[in-house]
Amino acid sequence: MESDKNINIVESAAGADENEKNRVLGGVLYLVGTPIGNMADLSPRAVKVLSEVDFVAAEDTRHTGRLLSAVGVSKPMVSYYKDNMAQSGRRIVERLQKGESCALCTDAGMPAISDPGEELVKMCAAASINVTCVPGPCAAVTALSLSGADTRTFVFMGFLPPEGKPRRDALSEAAAERRTVILYEAPHRLKKTLSDLFDACGGERGLDVCRELTKLNEQTVRSTVGEVKAMYDSVEPRGEYVLVLHGRMGGEDWRSLSVREHVEMYERSGMSRMDAMKAAARDRGVGKAEIYRELNVRQT
Ligand code: SAM
Repeated sequence: MESDKNINIVESAAGADENEKNRVLGGVLYLVGTPIGNMADLSPRAVKVLSEVDFVAAEDTRHTGRLLSAVGVSKPMVSYYKDNMAQSGRRIVERLQKGESCALCTDAGMPAISDPGEELVKMCAAASINVTCVPGPCAAVTALSLSGADTRTFVFMGFLPPEGKPRRDALSEAAAERRTVILYEAPHRLKKTLSDLFDACGGERGLDVCRELTKLNEQTVRSTVGEVKAMYDSVEPRGEYVLVLHGRMGGEDWRSLSVREHVEMYERSGMSRMDAMKAAARDRGVGKAEIYRELNVRQT
């Protein structure tokens, strides 16, 4: 690897030796993709790398320990998770600098996608440590390919912020997005998120809900925000979810609309007058009172 102020070039560690391109090398962090629910999705290359590295860093050592024993691998493990990632990450970087090889496994799927792996990759990049990837399943991409939504251009937003302005801003962003939007959600927050999406996007917007991907109870519901919200009024969410929100359709960019047309655009998508006014106010970065005033002034 070479680096200067403006450029950071990482040579593929996997391809470093033409004769044995899967040979595990010292001083390299391997991001190992693991199953998101179906053990058969663990790749032979992942097993080889896990069995050859010096140690495994795991988000949950018990979970990864079970995975390792299922494939007959026994390895020293260190724990690396949200609450210890600064300290544990530093120790992992030191060991890599001394020439050890490490495999990072997060709880499920691709490390660094909505999990603490992202920070370790940043620490390695800052320390000029080689990082390579043993790709595996990723819930976001698995859901996207199943969804039936437009897959040519998409945005991955991961988990929405839990509350407050960051959440409202993210919802407005998702509502205004013309590209497909992929969201992760925990079961206990699903109903709240469906209700917030309804307020932000209206009921007609396409929404696909992928549940328990690759598992026995895998389910994909291809519908609209309104229909899915209504469905979960009477169903208790269970398992893991990815939401695939279709992009905003048509040429109706609110920037070219009057305030009235803007509000009506949201009403046509199924929102109440009040929610449509709130959504238009959010888009325009003004208070609801201003929208209200504008509508009334124009009416008289
Ligand atoms: N790094 C992981 C990946 O590559 O997909 C994601 C980690 S993130 C902490 C966990 C979230 O991913 C879950 O809350 C859920 O939204 C989604 N997820 C993981 N496995 C899933 C599955 N089998 N079915 C549906 N969603 C899943």
